[in-house]
Amino acid sequence: MIWQNHILIGASLAAVIDPVLVPVGVIGATAPDWMEWVIKPFYPVKHRGATHVVLYWIAAIIFFLAVDWHRVGLGFAIGGFSHVFADAFTIAGVPFAPWSDTRFHLFGGKLRTGNGGEYVVAGLIAALCFCFVLYSPVKIGTAADKENGFIPFFYNWKKFYDEGLIDGAEWKKNRFNFF
Ligand SMILES: [Zn+2]
Repeated sequence: MIWQNHILIGASLAAVIDPVLVPVGVIGATAPDWMEWVIKPFYPVKHRGATHVVLYWIAAIIFFLAVDWHRVGLGFAIGGFSHVFADAFTIAGVPFAPWSDTRFHLFGGKLRTGNGGEYVVAGLIAALCFCFVLYSPVKIGTAADKENGFIPFFYNWKKFYDEGLIDGAEWKKNRFNFF
């Protein structure tokens, strides 16, 4: 899958947890590929090999859920997981566990990298995440903690209105201004 779509999927998933995590989610979403370049001088890593093991990224998510109170690591791990998850839609697939030679595929692994299909998959995932962020009554992760504060990327116009900082017209005008 091309980076553009990896970034879109990673950013969307990170936003579901917390919009503040979007930048680290983006770094994580490209990590399985750039980590290959970083490791290569020291260790012969195959493309879509060690850095694309699904189980490693699931373990990273669990680890950061347990220890990382800043959630920066969690955003990164979710981005990384989104990358290998998305690569599982492609013909080449990804390794599920370090000890298995079989490739892991989702939905038959029909996507060819750079083909139109991957835009559809990325767009669908992003749309689902976007709807979730907008309409879900459930708030996951730190999004709930941030309810009473300032959220970078998602200015809290509603709260400004409630506090009388801006008037109704201004709120109406800006309520769909997320950036
Ligand atoms: Zn990759």
